[in-house]
Formats: sequence, C-alpha cells, structure tokens
Amino acid sequence: MPALTRPVRALTLTLPPREAVLAAETDVLVVGGGPAGIGAALGAAAAGAEVVLAERYAFLGGNATAALVMPLMSFHTQRATFEKEDGAKLFPTDHGPGEPVVAGALAELLRRLVGAGGAIAPSLDTGYTVPFDPELFKLTALELLDEAGVQLLFHAFASGVVDDGPARGVVFETKSGPLVARARVVVDCTGDGDVAARAGARYEVGREEDGLVQPMTLMFRMVQFEREAFEAYVRGHPDQWRGVHGLWDLIRTASAAGELDLPREDLLFFGTPHEAEVSVNSTRVTRALGIDVFDWSRAELESRRQMRQIAAFLRRYVPGFENAYIAQSGVHTGVRETRRIVGDYRLTAEDVLDAREFDDVIARGAYPVDIHNPKGSGTVLKRLPPGAAYDIPLRCLLPREIEGLLVAGRCISGSHEAHSSYRVMPIVMATGQAAGVCAALAAKQHLTPRAVPVADVQEMLIAQGAHLAR
Ligand SMILES: Cc1cc2nc3c(=O)[nH]c(=O)nc-3n(C[C@H](O)[C@H](O)[C@H](O)COP(=O)(O)OP(=O)(O)OC[C@H]3O[C@@H](n4cnc5c(N)ncnc54)[C@H](O)[C@@H]3O)c2cc1C
Repeated sequence: MPALTRPVRALTLTLPPREAVLAAETDVLVVGGGPAGIGAALGAAAAGAEVVLAERYAFLGGNATAALVMPLMSFHTQRATFEKEDGAKLFPTDHGPGEPVVAGALAELLRRLVGAGGAIAPSLDTGYTVPFDPELFKLTALELLDEAGVQLLFHAFASGVVDDGPARGVVFETKSGPLVARARVVVDCTGDGDVAARAGARYEVGREEDGLVQPMTLMFRMVQFEREAFEAYVRGHPDQWRGVHGLWDLIRTASAAGELDLPREDLLFFGTPHEAEVSVNSTRVTRALGIDVFDWSRAELESRRQMRQIAAFLRRYVPGFENAYIAQSGVHTGVRETRRIVGDYRLTAEDVLDAREFDDVIARGAYPVDIHNPKGSGTVLKRLPPGAAYDIPLRCLLPREIEGLLVAGRCISGSHEAHSSYRVMPIVMATGQAAGVCAALAAKQHLTPRAVPVADVQEMLIAQGAHLAR
C-alpha cells in the first residue's frame, strides 16, 4: 500500500470564492497549542490581553502530546563536562549539575505536573531532563490556560490570512466551515510557521549546503517493561548501553538475521515517570519534509514499519522487554524541522556555542547543538562551554517586513544548527512566553510588536518569573 506521491506534472484548479464566519475579535490570537503556544497564551494573558488560542487537534501540548516527544530536554547549564557511571537509569548520563536558564511559564507548568505525579523534577538522577506523562501534560496545560481565561478553539486548522485594516485575520478550516479570527497581534506557534508563510514572510528550510532537514521520528510508548532485567543486562554489558541509547551488538545480530532494517545504528529510549514504561525514540525517516503532505504520508508508512520491527526486536532480543507491548504511538510521525522564518536577526551556531549575549534578550538556552543526521545514521552533539547559556533576541521572533505578527517556538529565525538547540521544548516555551508578552503590550498600546520597547517586554517577562539575567 504505497503513499500517494506528488503528481509529476500537477494541474492547478481555481477554487470558488467563499465566505467565512467571523468567529472572534481579540487582542492576541495564538495559533498552535504546543509548548510555544502554551507559553504565548499564558504570557499574553498574564500581561492583561484578551487571548484566543486556536489548535488543529483536540488537545494541547503539540509534539509533547501529539507526537509523544518525551522527556523535556535539559534547560540547565552544566558546570563541567561530565559522565556518570550508572547507565541503566534510562536518562542521559552526560549532564552534570548546573543552573536553570528557563523559568516563568515552564516553571509553573512543571510545578503543577510534578505535584500531580505527572513529571519527575529535573535533577542529576534524570540527567536534568524532565520525564512526564503526556495525558497529565494535556490536562495540566488545559487547566493553566483555563485559569488564565484563554479562550480555546480546537479542531481548527489555520489555512490562510486576511489583511483587514489594523487587525490581522487568520482563516481556519473547521467542521463548521471556514472561520476567521481577527486580532491586533497574531502569534504563530504552529511549529512550521504556517501563518507567517501565508502572510508572505520569508523563510529558510534545512541545511545551507543541500536544504535537507533533520529526520522525522514516530515515537511510541512501550509498557510492561521489566526494569530490573534490563538493568542486569546493562550491568553485564556496560559497553552496550550509554544512558539512553545503545544495544549495538544485538542490533547487528538482528540485522544480519534480516529482522531489522533501520537507518539508525543504535536504539534510543528514555524512562518515564512510570517504572514499567519506556518512551522509544528510534524510528528515523530521512529526506522528508513536514510541510509536504506527500513526504509526511510516506513517512507515516515508513515509520510505522520501523516501529513494528523495533518492538519485535526488543521483545525477542532485549532482556526486560519479553512481555512489553506498544501502548500508544504518536498521532503522527514527529517533525523536528521545517520552516525557519527569517526575522530581524538570525541566530547562528556561533551565537549558541559562544554563549553570546544580546541587549534585547527575551529567552535563554543552554541545550547543545543536537543534529540527527538528515541523511541516515549518527547524531552530532556540540556543547556550550561549562556554565554557559546563550541569549535569544526579540528580533528572532519578528518576521522581517511583516507587521502585526510574531513567531515563537521552533520556527523562529535562526540557522539549521542554532535551530537544533532552541527547538527543545523548554526553550520553545520561553520564546512563546516572550512572544505572548510582546503581543499583549503591542495590542494594549496599539503598537506593532516591532515598536514595543524591548525593555518593557523584558520587565514584564521578569515580573512573570522568566530568567533573563546572568
Ligand atoms: C521525534 C522528536 C523528538 C524530539 N525530542 C525532544 C526531546 O526529547 N525533548 C525536547 O525538549 N524536545 C524534543 N523535540 C523537539 C520538540 O518536541 C519541538 O521542537 C517542540 O515541540 C516545538 O514546539 P512548538 O510549540 O514550536 O511546535 P509543536 O510542538 O510542533 O506545536 C505546534 C502546535 O501547533 C499546531 N498546529 C500546527 N499547524 C497548525 C495549523 N496550521 N493550524 C492550527 N494548529 C496548527 C499543532 O497541532 C501543535 O499543537 C523532539 C522533536 C521530535 C519531532
């Protein structure tokens, strides 16, 4: 059963004109309810704006819940390079103690999630990642936005924009037909920069040399995993497991027997808050772009083929997995990288790795450059110096030559390498919160986001608990 492919010579058809219901007029419209959208809605609401958040699915969380991307990667600096001995805990062993560089909306989300038993607080034991339960993540995010008075529109896919005087309108495809929501400022948190692209923003895709993006991965949860048996295997084969990845010898054996055919040379999986569960991050589909429906369809078939093989391999070859089974896979294959909207500033790998400071800082990151090979096996990891963090300037959230619109999350302005760092969920939430604050201040003062003094954005972010200072 092949996926439908792009027609070789595509005809285009003109669609009939249509009308849309004006569903909302608001100060700030946030499009996309992933980590960036959650941060944006909370930041804007706390800054006093009326906020509507529209999301294509029926729940919040974006990749965290729809694609089952777990855990939240570290948002702590690292005082020294580090390698811990005990590799059987299923968390990274190479992240030592340091200071958090993201707080604000993320801190409140984590406080509630941990309190509800839905996450483990970051520590040396978790390699400073945050393992979480995706269902409790959905509920906690919903609770936070509900309390903040954010109006939610689910089942609404943003497909276009209408320019309408000072307000900007976004068109949504829904079961009720097309709707338009108008706002003084729109924050694009679709991950793909869908709204910005429709509004005419310039964007980049992929690496400079060949345009290739990081691979897609279908994540899945396996339960009835017996941790003690796995730990015993790792203790007996210390060269075969590095914290969260390995099993090289068993993979070679299974591949030679024709039971595995994967682009990865190892398997990668993480512990979760549940003792008998792992989150498997091991399928890999290369040369597929998440804003190309034909590519993404092909990826769904290929990643599910790989998932079936991986689960069978784990059960057959790996101690602790004998009785394990797939409890859930992502709603869709996870997309790491698509459009990077060109903004007033483009963050680079040097900015990240040299821990550069900017006067218009609105968020900070300490996560390494982390690039899964766009062509096949292997992952490149480049760390910041010990104790260091980098700044993200407000200008990265302002699409060049476009007014009334901010971008936040993984589609902000930066290079392919810089993106591989700032795409992780804690940083994405921080850029979301900053975009929400800037949007709210712009809406309330009848300014464009570009005209809002950055000092005002910084002051409000600090009042909301964000970490901006060193
Ligand atoms: C396989 C994989 C593994 C990863 N591993 C980790 C990890 O371990 N830890 C970590 O911290 N990060 C990880 N990441 C990165 C991280 O998950 C993403 O970069 C991050 O979720 C981006 O957040 P976002 O809010 O910008 O976008 P998303 O999380 O993609 O959220 C976008 C939201 O917008 C909605 N949306 C999209 N288009 C539209 C539209 N047109 N109309 C309406 N709604 C729309 C989506 O449904 C979604 O809810 C991983 C990513 C992938 C794919």
